[in-house]
Amino acid sequence: MLVDSHCHLDFPQLSDSIEQVVDLMQANGVGCALCIGVTLEDLPRVLALAEAWPLLLASVGVHPEATEVREPTVAELVELAGHPRVIAIGETGLDYYWHKDAPEWQRERFRTHIRAARQAQKPLVVHTREAAADTLRLMEEEGAGEAGGVMHCFTETWTVAEAALDQGFYISLSGIVTFKKALTVREVAQRVPLDRLLVETDSPYLAPVPYRGKTNQPGYVKQVAEEVARLRGLSYEALVDATTANFFRLFPSARSKVTQ
Ligand SMILES: [Zn+2]
Ligand SMILES: [Zn+2]
Repeated sequence: MLVDSHCHLDFPQLSDSIEQVVDLMQANGVGCALCIGVTLEDLPRVLALAEAWPLLLASVGVHPEATEVREPTVAELVELAGHPRVIAIGETGLDYYWHKDAPEWQRERFRTHIRAARQAQKPLVVHTREAAADTLRLMEEEGAGEAGGVMHCFTETWTVAEAALDQGFYISLSGIVTFKKALTVREVAQRVPLDRLLVETDSPYLAPVPYRGKTNQPGYVKQVAEEVARLRGLSYEALVDATTANFFRLFPSARSKVTQ
């Protein structure tokens, strides 16, 4: 089976058609999807999905873009991470694309998540955009490698990938890898060690070719995996087996929670 390591099924584009979303997952051999928390306010909706569907799991975090939301404390994140369907802390990280002034509160929020992940002993789901150097520096300063985690929807250079790999992190590729002009991402897809690679949709965004521009959904992680397999000269089955094994190695608590 294949795993979608990152999606947002509580967003309105998908939550209204969750039965069809799950149907397509099953039709495409996607046995598990990690539903990502982005605010504490919306977390109950994410948790409800993971409680209702055996193939859905959840993470707890406050997204670096989110403003005018409740700021989490370490203790709060650790407590929420104790929920039986939660396997990860995030998404968290830095995003200077949407916040050009590189605000200090983003770095403080990121540090809070890393500390929570270490305490809860749950891996991190890290988002980074136009902030690679600071992201890697904070990970290092806070000992993020001790919790481990994944750089999700990776769009940085191979040099950045190597630095994240050196800290013990995994690299997750989204549908961007199917875009012919995304040369950097396609290069990273070829170079990441096979035992450190994950695939995701980041749905409802970033639908892979041939669904580009449409609403994305976890079933389309199949098209992401097909393209990564092609780029690496691997069979689809080998790529599926490797990325799924990686997911359950990174998130060991997921295995007993997912039933098909
Ligand atoms: Zn993200
Ligand atoms: Zn996301």
